[in-house]
Amino acid sequence: MQEAKRKKPPGLTKEALDCLHLEVFNNYEIGMEAELPKAALDCSICLESFVDGDELIRLPCQHRFHSVCLDPWVRSCGDCPYCRRDILVNIHKAIERT
Ligand SMILES: [Zn+2]
Ligand SMILES: [Zn+2]
Repeated sequence: MQEAKRKKPPGLTKEALDCLHLEVFNNYEIGMEAELPKAALDCSICLESFVDGDELIRLPCQHRFHSVCLDPWVRSCGDCPYCRRDILVNIHKAIERT
């Protein structure tokens, strides 16, 4: 199977990974975000709901995933597992790609 080389963003570098926004999930967000789409409260990689104390990564598209789930993904794909938007990180080094 020749997977066509579509214009797919490559995995993120370690520097880019370090620049992603890390946050810890708090239970109180469940109340606050009750009106948001369900995707805001669970990880679309492992499909588990976020629980208090989970370490999350928020992508520039505002989707959030467990950092442990997202980590292997972003090493091979530079886009959001949920909406497939490119993960653009502003680090000086990563600007060579247009
Ligand atoms: Zn997960
Ligand atoms: Zn997204």
